[in-house]
Amino acid sequence: MLERIPYRPLDCASLPQRLGDRPELLAPLGPATGWRVREVGDGNLNLVFIVESDAGSLVVKQALPYARVVGESWPMSLDRAFFEHEALKRLGARDPGRVPDLKLFDPTQALLVMEHLTPHTVVRRALMAGEELPRLGEHVGLYLARTLFRGSDWSLPTAVRKADLALFAGNVELAGITEELVFSDPFKDAPLNRHTPGLEAAALAVRSDRALKIAAQEMKARFATCAETLLHGDLHTGSVMATADDTRVIDAEFALYGPMGFDVGVLLAHLWMACFARSAHHGDAPSADRAGARLLACAETCWQVFAAEFARLWRTERTGILGGCDLFEDQGDSEGSEAALAGQLATVWRDALGFAGIEIHRRILGLAHVAEFETIADTGRRAALERRALAFGRHLAVNRHALDTPAAVTCAVLAAEGV
Ligand code: ADP
Ligand code: MG
Repeated sequence: MLERIPYRPLDCASLPQRLGDRPELLAPLGPATGWRVREVGDGNLNLVFIVESDAGSLVVKQALPYARVVGESWPMSLDRAFFEHEALKRLGARDPGRVPDLKLFDPTQALLVMEHLTPHTVVRRALMAGEELPRLGEHVGLYLARTLFRGSDWSLPTAVRKADLALFAGNVELAGITEELVFSDPFKDAPLNRHTPGLEAAALAVRSDRALKIAAQEMKARFATCAETLLHGDLHTGSVMATADDTRVIDAEFALYGPMGFDVGVLLAHLWMACFARSAHHGDAPSADRAGARLLACAETCWQVFAAEFARLWRTERTGILGGCDLFEDQGDSEGSEAALAGQLATVWRDALGFAGIEIHRRILGLAHVAEFETIADTGRRAALERRALAFGRHLAVNRHALDTPAAVTCAVLAAEGV
């Protein structure tokens, strides 16, 4: 039985009473009198509770009717819980085991109950703490290839794909947030922008950097008009939780149809930004350099595994409207199919670099920043590291057609550090 009362936000005290009759929670946790509840939401938008008992634990995530990061002055639709649930179902089916198990969705209360990932930690925090996460690049590369390929016209029948596109077109509010906050605000004088003291000149320079603004607009056009596959839509290192041998993707409320390179580029941008911030988090220079090398290697592995898995799916699962076996393999032209694959991967790579460059700008000059930089108390030092990351991000966005391989990007990181 779903709760019949109108939407009301939960709190730790009311949660057992309000959800205590739901079989989906009772079965794993036992009677609500034995539940212990704490709120752990460190995100920007929602309430997240961990509910524990002697029998087990679950996570309850509830949308708020406003953006938590700004407050009640920024109203926001509760529908995002619906889209998060729909997206997690699809992403979990396309790469089984890579998202938390879903237990319950209640549309009226805009809440989702899911598996409590434990002892997983948020990847951003784990990387800042110097954890190695040796499987991260591989797992995320597989996840990206499987979800992006299997959500696209290369895989899905056209009717299914178009109905799904129509469904996710309803997540327009969150799409609009990305369009404004990621692709426009950092490149103009927008009221929500903020930056580290000392970056005034950099923020001003961006607004008169015509090549960069053209790149930002080109990437925005790709994002807004290329409905290629179902994206996670916010795949930064805070949306991934991991242990040394398991990796899970959470927080899919920004899901929408868009270009494959978006999820890839955002994830890579956060690995590269972590690399630029490393000297502030890893004690002495040798351990910071080891952490930096690991981050760059993780980004390279992520892309290589993505490309290899995407190629495997291309060769074995091209069943959708864009299938193309009729044009190539069926006519004995496997080489043609491989050439088309290379073209597709080149497009994803080029887009990913463009999106990564834009993402880096928005995390330094826009509203939402990243902990790797924000936790550096010495603002002079923070500004210096952010300036390097911005130079690198500009290079990615503007010169994305000239950077062919992850190794070339690694060289660009090193070059930006010489700034
Ligand atoms: P928001 O949409 O508000 O950003 P998230 O989905 O990112 O919320 O969740 C916020 C935090 O709650 C995460 O950073 C993580 O610490 C914790 N969390 C979310 N889902 C789970 C889960 N399934 N298991 C364990 N912790 C979780
Ligand atoms: Mg979120």
